[in-house]
Amino acid sequence: MAYKIIYDKDSCIGAGECEAISKKFWKVDRDGRAILNGAKLNEETGNYELIIGDGDLKEQEVVVGSCPIACIKLEKMKE
Ligand code: SF4
Repeated sequence: MAYKIIYDKDSCIGAGECEAISKKFWKVDRDGRAILNGAKLNEETGNYELIIGDGDLKEQEVVVGSCPIACIKLEKMKE
């Protein structure tokens, strides 16, 4: 199963919970906003998106639940 992380970078306040939980995918940049490693910008929505597999799901669920302003979402991909 594949999942999509959807990240609204414009809303990020740089709290850093994502990076503290998952350095593999998240890093707060010098501009005070998190970078989602390897993500691509969706020009239509303005969000960054990254496809992940089952092995990364649990950790990213924790990340989603930890972001204080809920600017990260997870979506199950259609088969
Ligand atoms: S936890 Fe949310 S607000 Fe904090 S740095 Fe990560 S994405 Fe930004």
